[in-house]
Amino acid sequence: MPLSHNCKALLRRAVPYIEPDEELMDSFGSLYERLVSLNQQINVTAVTDEAGVTLKHIADSLSPLCLEELGEFRAPLCYDIGCGGGFPGLPLALTKENMKITMVDSTEKKIKALEESVRLLGLNNVRCLCGRAEELACKGSAHREKADLVFSRALARLDMLCELCLPFVKKGGYFIALKGKDAPAELEEAKNAIKLLGGRLVRLQETTLSPNCFDGLELTEEERAVAQEFARSKRYLVIIKKIAPTPDKYPRAFAQIKKKKL
Ligand code: SAH
Repeated sequence: MPLSHNCKALLRRAVPYIEPDEELMDSFGSLYERLVSLNQQINVTAVTDEAGVTLKHIADSLSPLCLEELGEFRAPLCYDIGCGGGFPGLPLALTKENMKITMVDSTEKKIKALEESVRLLGLNNVRCLCGRAEELACKGSAHREKADLVFSRALARLDMLCELCLPFVKKGGYFIALKGKDAPAELEEAKNAIKLLGGRLVRLQETTLSPNCFDGLELTEEERAVAQEFARSKRYLVIIKKIAPTPDKYPRAFAQIKKKKL
């Protein structure tokens, strides 16, 4: 199913750094359709209107593609940690066939559903892995320090998130956290964790759209309201480079991660 004309226009304005062809737009339409039908079986999102999914899930997931750092890798090995219904990993994998993405989630029924999404979308650059991040990336694991790029959205606050994600990243790779308005405060709290885990903050990049981003588009009233809310919402990418190996004792067990901040 293709995305509607209006949603295609919204997407083009929200992510001007990619130029989706009709085939990709059709894939985003199929992803939307799949998300809505999946959501009737298991709750993966509160957003089910087409404009909302297009902006808050698809466009938001694509925001890392504006980063010049991604150009450092020809065929990056990527992980999406705590991927839930498939964000940001699925839109990224649909857009960039050269990215090989491992989607990780601790909930088995989400991973089962995701496997079906991957099949329906015809993606062959994605694999799905059920497990807890802190177990999959522990010392000696096949997933530890293997990734060029790790992405994560809406899994935890940045200090905890770094312990869950940075152990997957190999030296020279990047952890990219997709964050909302609290990113600057979360970053302050996470500075020590980043250092302890072998990371170095490259920068906090604001990706908030301009308030007039969607001006001049013909939209329904509902679509206009969704677009305005999205354009107003503050969004950031936290870009962390792995510069040293993560010490063997990290990641700790989840109870410890929660109890004692790094
Ligand atoms: N990234 C998605 C989903 C966010 S919800 C999005 O932005 O829409 C957080 C997801 O992380 C849930 O699906 C939950 O099952 C998963 N999760 C929670 N703790 C985890 C852990 N320790 N390791 C792996 N996945 C985890």
